[in-house]
Amino acid sequence: MAAATATLSPPRTTPPTYHRIVSPTLTIPTDPLQSIPVGLLACQRDPLLSELATTAVSCRESQSPTVPSNGREGKKKKTPPTPSAPLVEVILHDTIIFPEGGGQPSDVGILTSADGELWDVVEAKRHGGHAVHYVRLKPQQNVDQALKAFSPGALVGVSLGEEGSKRRLDHASMHTSQHLLSAVLENKLDIPTLAWSITTHPGPGYVEIPRGLSPDEIAFVQDECNKLVFEGRSVHVEVEELDAEGRVYTGTSVGIPQDYTGGVKRTVIIDGIDRNPCCGTHAPTIHNLQLFLFPHTETLSRSTATSVRLYFLSGPRMLAHLTSSHTLLTATAGIMSCGAPSVPERVQQVVDERKKATKRVEDLEAELAASIASELASTTSGQGRAIVLHKHRTDDSTNALGFLSAITTAFSTKIKEGVPFLLVLSSSPSAQTGTSTTVVLIFGSDDKKVKEVGDALKAKLNVKGGGKGSRWSGKFTGVWKEAKEGQAVASALESVQF
Ligand SMILES: [Zn+2]
Repeated sequence: MAAATATLSPPRTTPPTYHRIVSPTLTIPTDPLQSIPVGLLACQRDPLLSELATTAVSCRESQSPTVPSNGREGKKKKTPPTPSAPLVEVILHDTIIFPEGGGQPSDVGILTSADGELWDVVEAKRHGGHAVHYVRLKPQQNVDQALKAFSPGALVGVSLGEEGSKRRLDHASMHTSQHLLSAVLENKLDIPTLAWSITTHPGPGYVEIPRGLSPDEIAFVQDECNKLVFEGRSVHVEVEELDAEGRVYTGTSVGIPQDYTGGVKRTVIIDGIDRNPCCGTHAPTIHNLQLFLFPHTETLSRSTATSVRLYFLSGPRMLAHLTSSHTLLTATAGIMSCGAPSVPERVQQVVDERKKATKRVEDLEAELAASIASELASTTSGQGRAIVLHKHRTDDSTNALGFLSAITTAFSTKIKEGVPFLLVLSSSPSAQTGTSTTVVLIFGSDDKKVKEVGDALKAKLNVKGGGKGSRWSGKFTGVWKEAKEGQAVASALESVQF
């Protein structure tokens, strides 16, 4: 059984064949005062390394309190709150903290100086060809102390720490899966990858492709990828000098950044499947990188062309997705008092019932509005005399004004021809607070009088509203009391004479 377990587990150490320098003239700088260029960093030579002893090359206080965005301002990100603690920029001889680049986000980690002090690396960026570590000082640390700890040649320990190790596993799983997915799309369906992103945990990554895929095609691509995963194809990296004339690689999906001056061309190879220029920290094998594709594509419309995004998950992010999906489904099943598989059917049933109930409420409201209207139309205080009255209601309705309006519509069909009238209808919710809204609707046979009463309510009750012709509507905020607001309406109506 031990052997079987071993073959199903990813290797604990990176095989020596992972990192291959394929140029006879390319060497990794050994001078401890020189920084190894991005492309040849320890994190790129050995993605499973979680600790490294190295030396400091330079250190300076950062000019800005926030880490610069490497010229990616075009993508509108939420501006993080400006942290107050100072940042220092540390360049090391070598590092296992991957600097953001080529679509892969930065690692985080911890530096240990010779005096045993621990320093938090909140981000690493590539500046030209070199990795810069951004160290956020703790309250008890100061810039002078940092400049001393990272003076040229000083010994420095680099580690990913728990958080950094989780990030590494996540980024490696997602990035290697992206290469696999793009390769299968290209090889099996002749679909190029136009752009991609592994985003940040726990959101899905995506590849952008020129056309949508049918659910069958998506299932096919997922199957093809996972067959290769099951085979456990190996991954390795080949590095050589960048061609003098060919700075920018003209590969299918990924190019080398224009400002990259490391002078190293790095190609990531999935055995027998894919060769792609890339600087990322790839898993040494696609073993265990089960790939989940979202069973639909999302169409993006841009002014120039239309493309779609195919979303994917693998590794820790896929597990996080399973956990959150399961939690949502279980919670919904609990609310619906049914088993998880019955959730869609039960939700559909509730939606259908709700539609029927809404229809029933509408029918009953129409009937009630007609009944109230009849009652109002017959409330003449004398033969041929005008109808001038206020009717207040309590309605917990999402559209109380609509209901009052339905009463006026019914009223106009019931009132005897030629009888002058002016109605003030108001409606409050059953539980009133200082922020409750009472709606008011004025309806009358004389447009001028409707406006006069509306103006009076505006002045006396601070009702906000307006109207045109025979109708005027407004809103009153606060607690509507018969003894106060009701009386105010009554006194506004006293002045109405027909
Ligand atoms: Zn890549």
